[in-house]
Amino acid sequence: MSNQGTNLDPWYDSYADRTAGLSASEVRALFAVASRPEVVSLAGGMPYVSALPPELVSGSIERVLSKNAAMALQYGSGQGTPAIREHIMQIMAMEGIRGSADDVVVTTGSQQALDLVTRLFINPGDVVLAESPSYVGALGVFRAYQADVQHVVMDDEGLVPEALRESIANLTAQGKRIKFLYTIPNFHNPAGVTLSWARRLEILEICRSAGILVLEDNPYGLIYFDKPAPQAMRSVDDEGVIYLGSFSKTLAPGFRVGWALAPHAIREKLILANESATLAPNSFGQFVITEYLDQADWRGQIDVFRGLYAERRDAMLSALGEHLPSLSWTKPNGGFFVWLSLPEELDSKAMLPRAVKELVAYTPGTAFFADGGGAHHIRLSFCYPQPEMIKVGVGRLANVINGELDLLRTFSGARLGKVAASRPSITTPPPNID
Ligand code: PMP
Repeated sequence: MSNQGTNLDPWYDSYADRTAGLSASEVRALFAVASRPEVVSLAGGMPYVSALPPELVSGSIERVLSKNAAMALQYGSGQGTPAIREHIMQIMAMEGIRGSADDVVVTTGSQQALDLVTRLFINPGDVVLAESPSYVGALGVFRAYQADVQHVVMDDEGLVPEALRESIANLTAQGKRIKFLYTIPNFHNPAGVTLSWARRLEILEICRSAGILVLEDNPYGLIYFDKPAPQAMRSVDDEGVIYLGSFSKTLAPGFRVGWALAPHAIREKLILANESATLAPNSFGQFVITEYLDQADWRGQIDVFRGLYAERRDAMLSALGEHLPSLSWTKPNGGFFVWLSLPEELDSKAMLPRAVKELVAYTPGTAFFADGGGAHHIRLSFCYPQPEMIKVGVGRLANVINGELDLLRTFSGARLGKVAASRPSITTPPPNID
């Protein structure tokens, strides 16, 4: 709670214990600053919906209202309409998933599916395994249900199976109950990396033998640039994987339509949880999306998004190469994000006010950890600004980083001299070091 420890809220003593887990995410706090027009925001992960021709959507809306208004404006099934669930099966088939539309539950964005799955499985103190770093919105949900989030390291090929094995062994030895592994295998938010096929199989095997459910969150899978991602984990495991998908990145997040494909045994509980949360998912949104998928060239539209985001990814990678050649960053093959590693003496959260003063915003790495990690990392989003602005933004960020390093060196010469000596890679030569 924001006012914890103060008397400002007369209801402070009445809140449930879990309310303490509700706090504004660092990303949210940034929106106000980053939305000033003079700031180049590399912070939020908003899809570039202006690339969606409005007439594609308005045509669908008009047809829904003339053909189907009575149903589209009414409450619907707690599971979602049969028509959209059939379309969702076809979309998932593009990532190798076969199954039954009966096992799909439509939700208010995949964010709500995350909430429902967590509600179904997590008692306070249960362990959720999550990548290190992990999606800020998922961490917020896990915190709200008082889960004990344990991070597992990743490298350029995604989650490291050996580290997962070790983590499971350690936590089990401590008597902890691990309920599920939350993973974003494709074009990770925030890390930008993709889990290799071999690792997908190995991780499924590890979880299967430890009796741990896998929650596969895949909002970016179809936003690939150079080549498609490996097939979904769910494509080879119907019983042990809950798969989450969304129309937010392939169409528009304003519809708030996402879904879960659950193992058959779980599906009924998920529908009940969905009904208790919202009665039914957004009927109008489902009808409009169904009409859009029936009538519009949606595959062509996804190609448009891919081309646009690929160009922005290229702009960001080349600007990083030009302005910060001695740092390292991930090279995403899809999605929205690059994960930048800073020299260890810099703290990305402490540096943010200076960045905003220099008219660039980013998300500090700490937003993506449940355990206070991430101080030496930054998430950079390339989805929203135009390529030229991305270049300007990265140039400003480089000034901030180099300026901070210069300052640190000036004020604590001897101690930082040692650090600098062990990291000869910093771009600008320190001015006042002797
Ligand atoms: N998972 C991940 C990894 C995301 O990045 C997002 C959106 N930023 C979501 C889930 C939620 O998306 P939505 O609710 O719009 O489907």
